[in-house]
Amino acid sequence: MNLILLGPPGAGKGTQAQRLAARLNLVHLASGDVLRAERASGSELGKRVESYMDSGALVPDEIIIEVILTRVRAAAGASGILLDGFPRTVAQAESLAEALSAAGERLDAVINLRVPDEELVGRIVGRRTCPTCHAVYHVTANPPAKPGVCDNDGTPLKQRTDDTEAVVRNRLAAYREQTAPLTAYYAKSGLLHEMDGTGAMDEVNEQLTKLVQDLAGDR
Ligand code: AMP
Repeated sequence: MNLILLGPPGAGKGTQAQRLAARLNLVHLASGDVLRAERASGSELGKRVESYMDSGALVPDEIIIEVILTRVRAAAGASGILLDGFPRTVAQAESLAEALSAAGERLDAVINLRVPDEELVGRIVGRRTCPTCHAVYHVTANPPAKPGVCDNDGTPLKQRTDDTEAVVRNRLAAYREQTAPLTAYYAKSGLLHEMDGTGAMDEVNEQLTKLVQDLAGDR
């Protein structure tokens, strides 16, 4: 199964995708994590994308498409891919369809996690992540057992530099203008499934897992 998890920043895509991928044995491909790893390594690519990311703008299509599709091609054909954060524009969606088709694969479903705008900012500014294992916490809604420290590996948690209120506003604007049109794009091809992302994390995960298992059964 090749799936896309769609939704605005703060909808819970990362957390849900990590769990879903582990439960269903899918390759989790998170474009934001890929770019952050490039930046952390000090690579040329990392340097090219930092100003876009820090301001909350999308990285240009000609950069991100190549970076992600290389990984899609490498992962295609195994147990399946769960894309999180890519595609974010119609051009990215079109290039993804071409790459999958060239690999003899296709996209099976796109799940749109819906969360009302007024909840998103609070979710994002309270978010803390583990730089080692990428686990995601929230200071009040999903705190680690020991404050500020990852439950999995004890690494001190960090706030992403783009998880501040000012940058979040730009990220939401980028989402509305460039990414939200993807829901209509995928609805047209009958691939879109809407999902309420507002419940407790475990509840959303149960519903999401059930939906994907049903979809896999219908294939
Ligand atoms: P994320 O972790 O998915 O919220 O992504 C963090 C940042 O990385 C975004 O605000 C963008 O600057 C950049 N980024 C991640 N994925 C994409 C993409 N598919 N297209 C363009 N920019 C992206």
